[in-house]
Amino acid sequence: MTLASGPSGDTGPVRVRFAPSPTGRLHVGNLRTALMNWLLVTARGGSFILRIDDTDLERSTDDNEQAIERDLHWIGFQWAEKHRQSERFGRYHAAADRLRAAGLLYACYETEDELDRRRKIAQSLGRPPVYDRAALALTEADRARLEAEGRRAHWRFKLSGEQVRWHDLVRGDQPIETSSVSDPVLIREDGTYLYTLPSVVDDIDMAITHVVRGEDHVTNSAAQIEIFRALGAEPPLMAHTPLLVAADGGKLSKRTGALSLEDLRAEGIEPLAVCSLLAKLGTSDPVEARSSYADLAAEFAFSKIGRAPARFDPEEVGRLNGQLLKAMPYTAAQPGLAAVGADAGEAFWLAVRDNVARYADASPWVAVAEGEITPVTEDPELLAQAVGCLPAGPFDATSWGQFTDAVKTASGRKGKGLFMPLRLALTGQAHGPDMARLFVLIGPERARARLVAAASQAAS
Ligand code: GLU
Repeated sequence: MTLASGPSGDTGPVRVRFAPSPTGRLHVGNLRTALMNWLLVTARGGSFILRIDDTDLERSTDDNEQAIERDLHWIGFQWAEKHRQSERFGRYHAAADRLRAAGLLYACYETEDELDRRRKIAQSLGRPPVYDRAALALTEADRARLEAEGRRAHWRFKLSGEQVRWHDLVRGDQPIETSSVSDPVLIREDGTYLYTLPSVVDDIDMAITHVVRGEDHVTNSAAQIEIFRALGAEPPLMAHTPLLVAADGGKLSKRTGALSLEDLRAEGIEPLAVCSLLAKLGTSDPVEARSSYADLAAEFAFSKIGRAPARFDPEEVGRLNGQLLKAMPYTAAQPGLAAVGADAGEAFWLAVRDNVARYADASPWVAVAEGEITPVTEDPELLAQAVGCLPAGPFDATSWGQFTDAVKTASGRKGKGLFMPLRLALTGQAHGPDMARLFVLIGPERARARLVAAASQAAS
């Protein structure tokens, strides 16, 4: 099993979590993290847990939370459990008390301005801008005086100052010197929690086996590993994936295609097109569409993920979507076609599916197959002869061959000189789906009318 790329013994069912903050809509970057977790659980069995990171009560909204669930349902992920951090504050208070009792969570009173000034001084002396732990020296009396002045404590976790080391499933051996990192603030002046502690408490309570997330969390991980141990738990295995960036290497933004899942859904993109791209990007595998999560999971391995940022090009989503549509049976495509007003039946879909990257691309062909078009005239003489060569209806799969053979004999034209004027007259387009299939849909009456119209257009 390729996923057993971590320490030996890392096999069997997993418990993983996807932990979005409901402060906005999900975008492709979030989806990539969710997908890596989903592929791990698909390959190994176990539970995928949805954790709503809503400790920021001001910025979190129900509307965003509902949108996240809608998006994940659309993608096709199911969660075995759902938890909200806002319902678990009691657990976080208990953990904070335990850390305080162990002397690992200490009260600090510096203001942002003071900290900023100290950072600048440290930098000007060529020292790293690490918190100097001045608050550790405060006595009970100092604290009482500061509080009497109206200051309120924020609380920092006391790092060991030693090296924390873990085997990251993507990044390999990760030695982090905690002496080069500031003791992280776990609780703000107003008593609210930053993400660091609640996440660890949840990972312990929910028996998470693998934390799979973006590499922007690597530094957090060193502190979090120490917090796991301080709370008497072994940290889970960790995999930090390189960030997703725009095709030009810059930050993903709406302009560069940081598409929200809502946008992708509205565009009629197949979930597996975007997930195939996100699963393969930045790996040693070719970027090709797969038609199931099981297929993606069978090929997925953390060891295949490179260290460079993965470049996300929205054009590629269209390419992979086209690959999926080419192989899609009508029953699967029907809802997508109906949504863009292009459901013209099974024969129509089988005729056009090779030529569309999105369902909406099928729309113009509905008029070609069964509506009105403006025929384009090239070689009116040939077209006039073609009218007389039309086979009797109804047309079937052999009709186009019979027709073009007859026109060839009558006109002496061949190759492009034969086929292009016929295509232009019958479809109004120089390129498009296989004519043998389209011809059946166009049918004898429309074919005759279009050829006559095109032949006479130039003659007049
Ligand atoms: N809410 C955090 C985020 O969205 C979760 C990070 C984690 O997976 O631990 O970045």
